[in-house]
Amino acid sequence: MQIDGARGEGGGQILRTSLTLSVLTGQPVSFVNVRAGRARPGLQRQHLMAVTAAAAICDADVEGARVGATAFTFTPGALRGGEHVFDIGSAGSTSLVLQTVLLPLALSGATARLTLVGGTHNPMAPPFEFIESAFLPLLARLGLHVKARLLRAGFYPAGGGRVEVEIEPHGPASALNLTEPGPSVRRRARALVANVPEHVGRREVDTLADRLGWPHGSGEVQVLGGPGQGNALTAFLENTHGTEVFTALGEKGVRAEEVAARLADQIAAFERTGAAVGEHLADQLLLPLALRAGGVFTTTEPSLHFTTQVETLTLFPSLGSRVSRRDLGDGRWHVEVAAPPAQ
Ligand code: ATP
Repeated sequence: MQIDGARGEGGGQILRTSLTLSVLTGQPVSFVNVRAGRARPGLQRQHLMAVTAAAAICDADVEGARVGATAFTFTPGALRGGEHVFDIGSAGSTSLVLQTVLLPLALSGATARLTLVGGTHNPMAPPFEFIESAFLPLLARLGLHVKARLLRAGFYPAGGGRVEVEIEPHGPASALNLTEPGPSVRRRARALVANVPEHVGRREVDTLADRLGWPHGSGEVQVLGGPGQGNALTAFLENTHGTEVFTALGEKGVRAEEVAARLADQIAAFERTGAAVGEHLADQLLLPLALRAGGVFTTTEPSLHFTTQVETLTLFPSLGSRVSRRDLGDGRWHVEVAAPPAQ
């Protein structure tokens, strides 16, 4: 099968998703035009590590994959668990490498322990807290049991963050229903500071609470070591039907209050829609739902990322995936992912 990386948004996601699905289906894949839509096309370190990681968990044969390559082939072998260390060697996102191998490992029936080294809080990628508090709890509801721990923070450009992940054999799954967020359980925030003064984090959580009318004391500051400097402000919206996580990264030259204000605006806009699932969780839920028990959710306007994920699923017809979506006309979309035909 040939996968044209220029499809959809022409980014890294079509590559990572196709690797995941190739490992799961045993379908060999030949990639061309890798990341053709990006300013620096071809495999960058994070993508190359995704290829290496996918190959490591199934003893795949890989030909032509190196930094900058725009074409390579991937022939998967038998999936197995075990212990693996995936060191990206840059600030590339550990979460995106993890997501490439997570579902095959979680569905393999084996136990796996992963150590990932690289970026843990990257722009344009799921921050660690999103994986831990939004994504993994939903996987648990699909019977996939994964624990993740953040040991060191990794920010651009130094990287060097460290995440440990334990994947246990899966249990029974039932379809997810996330059409409503459900009543609010708790609102809280955490500012992570790595080699940045603690008061920066304190000002962020206090400003966020003020702006959103959250109780004082709803925010905490986490001081964590890491080779570089960085700061991430994370808000956890805990509702009875699940937790959504929003993050803003601190930037040099941007005041802590401004970082918090931007995040508060983003959260307020999301909560006004009444959708249960945010833009990012929406595209990341498609695969687990399609591979496990299906489900329904409401979200905001589907992104190009979302449509690229849906298209990539259809490139693997043996999965029989069906995703439909409907504009509810009030800022929300209703998404339905059919359960896999075998179940
Ligand atoms: P590249 O080609 O540069 O690798 P990409 O297409 O692989 O780009 P993105 O489009 O930037 O990568 O997104 C990667 C993934 O990260 C998507 O699943 C997206 O939903 C997710 N993501 C981006 N920002 C966030 C965020 N703030 N919180 C959670 N997930 C995020």
